[in-house]
Parts: sequence; C-alpha cells; structure tokens
Amino acid sequence: MAPIASKLYTDDVSLVVLLLDTNPYFWTSSSSSSLSFSHFISHVLSFVNSILLLNQLNQVVIIATGHNTCGYIYDSSLSSVSSSISANESSGDAKMPAFCSEVLKSLEDFVKNDESLSSVDAGNGVGSSLLSGSLSMALCYVQRVFRTGPLHPQPRILCLHGSPDGPEQYVAVMNSIFSAQRSMVPVDSCVIGAQHSAFLQQASYITGGVYLKPQYLDGLFQYLSTVFATDLHSRKFIQLPKPVGVDFRASCFCHKNTIDMGYICSVCLSIFCMPHKKCSTCGSEYGQAQSDASTLSGFYTFVAR
Ligand SMILES: [Zn+2]
Ligand SMILES: [Zn+2]
Repeated sequence: MAPIASKLYTDDVSLVVLLLDTNPYFWTSSSSSSLSFSHFISHVLSFVNSILLLNQLNQVVIIATGHNTCGYIYDSSLSSVSSSISANESSGDAKMPAFCSEVLKSLEDFVKNDESLSSVDAGNGVGSSLLSGSLSMALCYVQRVFRTGPLHPQPRILCLHGSPDGPEQYVAVMNSIFSAQRSMVPVDSCVIGAQHSAFLQQASYITGGVYLKPQYLDGLFQYLSTVFATDLHSRKFIQLPKPVGVDFRASCFCHKNTIDMGYICSVCLSIFCMPHKKCSTCGSEYGQAQSDASTLSGFYTFVAR
C-alpha cells in the first residue's frame, strides 16, 4: 500500500502562482477602458476561490507586478484564515470570504508603496510594469517548493498582464523564461491589454503554457475558469486555445529597441542593432561581419578575432 503522503499529492494538485499587473499607468490609460481595476480584482478573487475549492491541497500565491516594485500579496499556505467558504464575520461583511479582505488589504498597501516610489514620470504613453521581477519572484518561490522534497503540488505560473512590454527588461525576462523551461514550469498568459505581448507569447510558447488574449474582458472569469483553472494533468484531455502566432522579435542590448534584423555576438549571443567593434557584454573584439547561415534568421554573426 502506498504511504499516505504520496496519495495526498496526486498529479492534479496544483500550485498556481498568479502575477497580477497593478501598474497604475496601465489601469488609468484608455487601453484598459473595457475593464476597471476593481472589476478585474473581483474576477481574479472568484478565480482564486474556485482553484482553492477544486482541491483542498491546491495552493495559490499572488504576486503583484507594479510599475516600480513587485511583492507577495497572498499565499494560501500561510494564510491565517483557512477555508474560503468561511465568511468574514468580524468585518461585518458576511458575503465576502475572509481571504478576499486579506488580499485586498495587502494589495492596497502594495499599490500605495509602489506609487510612493514613482519619482520619475512614465513619460509618454503607458509605462511598462516590472514583469521580469515578478517572474523571478515566482520562480524563486517554485524553487523553494521543489526543495521541500519529492512530494509537492504541480507548479504553474499565470500572468494576468496588461501593460506593454518593456524592451529594457528583455534580457531579464528571457532569462526567467529559460529558467522556467528548465524547471518545467509552464507560464500561462492572459493578456488584458489592447496589444499582444511578445514577451508573454514567447514565455508561454517556450514553457508549454497557454497564451490567451480574451476578446470580451467583462467575461474574464469565464476565460480564467475554463482555460486556466485546469490542472496540468487534465490539460491533456481538453481543447485549449492554440497560439495564433508568436512574435519572436528580440530587443537589442545597446538601445533596448525591438528589432527585426540585427547583429549577434558569436561568443555570448548578445544582440545589437548596429555593427560594433567590441562586444559590450563579453568584450570580444570583432572582425568583419559574416553573413552565414544565421542570416536566415535575420541576424548577421560577428566572429570574434
Ligand atoms: Zn541598439
Ligand atoms: Zn559578446
């Protein structure tokens, strides 16, 4: 007979790390007009509740992705209030599950703190949010869970993201994506902004997660519950949205611009938008740019002398 512990953690027990975009520049911009932040949070809370109800061993961790900082908002394994069914009687709001007020309280503290750090203006348009930071925090958390022993819930990361990609975060985001791929942690993406996110398209494609940009945001909970609530084991048996196309463009290391064509260092694979005499990353000195097979992918290779 199998020991009890191994029966507890079957393949359908999930650890969902939820990354919430709280970037104030995004939520006050016109691109989020079809969904307000409060509606967004109510959809998310219902979704978190349903995951916790699906299996009593399921675990949810919420990380806020702000404009300047990231922070842990909620961890169901540490939460003092146990069941999501128990109503919060102390606050007098009998309709709201106790964990919701806990999440809202920490979210409010986080947003206030994030706002107070905004010394520089976002400039023109909507500033990006710190996706690379929250992805790293999520992966650190997952690594910690992995190290608790062979019996742990199946982790996955879900990014609820609306802000445009910050090209200056390209290297950090790609490193996180490859780290997630290595740890076999799928990164699911639900894009709630006006534009597709090339970062998240690549993240979901590379890690085997699901990428979705819902058409009607007022039904966000339906998308979340039908697509993203499914545990990794059950995903084999259902039809999930297929990616329509992935934007594989990279950002150059010199100006952080998104480029279609560029130059790549043959030593460290750094990407540049213009020829350089020396690689700014690894210091290799270049000879003449060679156009070899890698030109097919739109890149000229610089061969170090
Ligand atoms: Zn450049
Ligand atoms: Zn280099």
